Amino acid sequence: MKAVDLWQRFKDSKKAVPSFNFTTADVALTAAKVVKKYSHYCLLSTSERELKFNTMEVVVGIVKGLKEQGFPVFLNLDHGRDLEIIKKAAGLGYDCIHFDGSTLPLGENIRITKEVVGLCRPHGISVEGEVGQIGGSSTVSDETTGASILTNVDEAIRFVKETGVNLLACSFGSFHGMVEGKTKVLDTAILEEIKKQVVVPFVLHGGSGIDNNEIRRAVDAGVVKINFNTELRLAWSAGIKEYQKEKPEDIIPANELAHADQKVEEVIEAKVKICLGINV
Ligand SMILES: [Zn+2]
Repeated sequence: MKAVDLWQRFKDSKKAVPSFNFTTADVALTAAKVVKKYSHYCLLSTSERELKFNTMEVVVGIVKGLKEQGFPVFLNLDHGRDLEIIKKAAGLGYDCIHFDGSTLPLGENIRITKEVVGLCRPHGISVEGEVGQIGGSSTVSDETTGASILTNVDEAIRFVKETGVNLLACSFGSFHGMVEGKTKVLDTAILEEIKKQVVVPFVLHGGSGIDNNEIRRAVDAGVVKINFNTELRLAWSAGIKEYQKEKPEDIIPANELAHADQKVEEVIEAKVKICLGINV
């Protein structure tokens, strides 16, 4: 199945496909195992930051290897802003491209997104566009960094009609990262208004730090892709630190990573279940 078919399959199902960012192969493998166990799918995503550590060729190789082993995973370019990087990703075999032109004036955002759609569609690559600004970065902080601008309904409708994107990332109360002691409250009325005019599946960015009930409300309103990053980072980092504290003499990377991946697996499993509406 192609990624573009995923959205058709899940758009009216009240289920969502999770997207997990990864830097190291062990996290990608952990996610792949969990979604396979639940007979579900996931996107494995790389942002510019993650691609600074890896090369694009390396992450393509990791996901290709997982697919060859029968894992139901797709590779996604997260918040692509540079056309050259997008062209390279499309050429190397990324399944999904998120072009983030949200900081550009609407006309410019539409123009470049259309170009990305034209580039990707012949290859069956899914394109996600973005209208409105989703602030923050995928870390834990005391206060929100980078203000969000809620998606304007009329702009979103025009954007979808003119670009023909497969998915629309909206800013409707979420932000990237987590703020201590703060849960995110989503304004799903924005999605309901857009849906009255155009048919487009939605994407929820900044899925970490959102209560299960809020996530289910978003899925009920038409969200089919949910991005999770910060909670995975937290779990992985806590696992590494815990292991090093418990066994400072152990220098075998596989042991440390296995411990970190156990923590990551718990988070991923919880996110897959919420996306599928299991036990909520
Ligand atoms: Zn995002």
